[in-house]
Amino acid sequence: MRALRLMGPGQLEINDVPVPEPGPGEALVKVAGAGLCQSDLHVRHLPAWPLPGMILGHETSGRVATLGAGVTTVHEGDPVLVYLVWACGSCRPCLEGRDNVCQAIAGRVGLPPCPGLGPDGGMAEYIKVPARFLEPLGNLDPIAAAPLADAGLTPMHAVNGARYRLTEGATAVVIGVGGLGHMGLQILRATTGVRIIAVDTDRGKLDLAREHGADEVVISDEQASRAILDLTSGYGADAVFDFSGVQATVDLACQVIAPDGVLRFVGLGGGGFSYAADSESTPLPWGVDVRRSYGGTRTDQRQVLELAQTGRVTVETTQYALADGIRAFDDLEAGKVRGRAVLVP
Ligand code: NAD
Ligand code: ZN
Ligand code: ZN
Repeated sequence: MRALRLMGPGQLEINDVPVPEPGPGEALVKVAGAGLCQSDLHVRHLPAWPLPGMILGHETSGRVATLGAGVTTVHEGDPVLVYLVWACGSCRPCLEGRDNVCQAIAGRVGLPPCPGLGPDGGMAEYIKVPARFLEPLGNLDPIAAAPLADAGLTPMHAVNGARYRLTEGATAVVIGVGGLGHMGLQILRATTGVRIIAVDTDRGKLDLAREHGADEVVISDEQASRAILDLTSGYGADAVFDFSGVQATVDLACQVIAPDGVLRFVGLGGGGFSYAADSESTPLPWGVDVRRSYGGTRTDQRQVLELAQTGRVTVETTQYALADGIRAFDDLEAGKVRGRAVLVP
């Protein structure tokens, strides 16, 4: 089968590999769509890559093709989404529903295994998956649904963890209206009554934000913090979701968060801030609640699937043939993708 693989630092190749064979408890899924995340770009540019030949793609949807021994939870032909958090399911955090921070497999600073960032991913004709990590797609278009596995899941988790501050009359800022951000914005619109301010460097992304229900849009430049403070009577925003995570957006997030606000860092663009315990040198007002948000839980996955199945959120996709996959990486890197790029084998 054809597969898009990372052979070494910066070295993407599309070539032939054997179709994997599902073992006991596994299913082989014929891929319909494989979403392309900016995390794939981060991985592409790592100075060292420990898994040469790994198939990329951690947002995968498709249909069950064949079953390994003992699988009874899915059937051949079922349309499915591949849940990306391959946690143990039985440690204390997993049993508490916090499988995205599984203690047994990920420990204090790791990640539970994620297809396409460890086990082979979905940028191929087939993917082999432990059957317990498949979610039914229901009525969704199997190609356009693929990004729900991360661009849907991760903002759903960030929003769910901020709900206590997302009350009527509150203001939320969404920074970065890309794959994750355009979904985060829609999840806020669909599940809260907050006013939404969207921020991006790209005017086209701000148009997309307007289409999906942003109340205000602000171009990301040196005046952005002033503009957001003006829109919030100088008090700041009750919630800030940073889906970019570069230095400029981390600075902006700290400059506009309100007292007792929820600050959610999702983007991994390399920005940072340092905490100080005294009032003079800390960038944060009193009471701010900061979370470094990772992925989402199985419950978050089901919730965002349901929002999509009931038409309350829609993934905007830009589709590429798998054979054009490397061009999709280059387009994402150049900021040319609207919504989410999805590779179609
Ligand atoms: P994307 O490229 O689709 O979107 C990023 C958006 O940020 C783009 O619209 C871009 O124009 C905008 N942007 C860039 N610089 C900006 C600035 N200075 N101000 C405002 N907007 C700016 O990327 P994506 O796939 O949505 O991923 C976003 C980030 O989230 C990446 O760093 C990715 O690695 C990370 N990520 C984190 C998790 C997690 O679990 N924490 C999960 C998935 C992705
Ligand atoms: Zn991702
Ligand atoms: Zn666990």
